Amino acid sequence: MTDTAAPTGPTAVSASTPVADAHRDLRDRLVAAGRLVPTGVDGIYGRDEMFESVVAGFDRLVSAAGADADPTRVEYPPMIPKVNFDRIGYLRNFPELVGPIFSFVGDAAAHRGVLDRLDAGDDYSDLLTQSELALTPACCYSVYPSVGPRIAKGGRTFETCGYCFRHEPSVDPMRLQAFRQREHIRVATPDEVLAWRDRWLERAPELLSSLGLDVVSDVANDPFFGRAGRLMKMSQREQQLKIEFLVDVYGPEHRTACSSINYHQDHFGHLFDITTADGETAHSSCIGFGFERATVAMFQRHGMDTAGWPSNVRDRLGLG
Ligand SMILES: [Zn+2]
Repeated sequence: MTDTAAPTGPTAVSASTPVADAHRDLRDRLVAAGRLVPTGVDGIYGRDEMFESVVAGFDRLVSAAGADADPTRVEYPPMIPKVNFDRIGYLRNFPELVGPIFSFVGDAAAHRGVLDRLDAGDDYSDLLTQSELALTPACCYSVYPSVGPRIAKGGRTFETCGYCFRHEPSVDPMRLQAFRQREHIRVATPDEVLAWRDRWLERAPELLSSLGLDVVSDVANDPFFGRAGRLMKMSQREQQLKIEFLVDVYGPEHRTACSSINYHQDHFGHLFDITTADGETAHSSCIGFGFERATVAMFQRHGMDTAGWPSNVRDRLGLG
């Protein structure tokens, strides 16, 4: 329920399927054109200046789309305190995606033990110590702990942007391990939050369509882990708490979310003791736009060189 633009559904295919071939083909074309620079690990890439010019234009549009709400803009580093990471329940719900941060804490003798393993090419992870930090899986997670305890009448609106990490190595260039999001976040009464969400349910597909992308909106669920997770997936779908905006990159039956909007109900209000002006637990919703996903989708749609893109798309992105 809290995992903005998280993966769902049809990409869980075996390595031999045509979709997997399509993933590899698009990745190879982006690399051959110079848009993505491989690092040797799937899902971790450098991006060239042309790729980043599209990201910058897309970011401006996403920010402008929420400017009427006069959001409080705040930026955070790409990690959050472990205490908040644990309280949010990310390890409980998405254990295979987590990125806790470990470091070395020890004396010279312990360090020699690490180096012995290093020199032998052996695993040294058990000689490291978990730090007080974890890599951020969603930008908005940095915001909620700072909001309470009581918000003024009319609620609060926030905007934030930054790197997120999810450990899901894949050849699919639409599914990176480190990626950027811009999120708009509303914390208010249930009616205020739902009215805000309704406006974005129209705006988000309009924004993506204006860039030449083929977009559909659909009810979705986060990839909650395990047996308990199946019930959470069902509940999330039944209550329509997560709506994704999916683009056609690998065919209409294999769409990928470039954006999603989540209604958390009072989940974060309870977790971080946020109340509205009338003393009720605050509700919240967030919408996140994935920069790399939208940008890769545009390169797939319009070609590997922005010089050949439709003029209206170039104008929208400020590409001159
Ligand atoms: Zn969010």
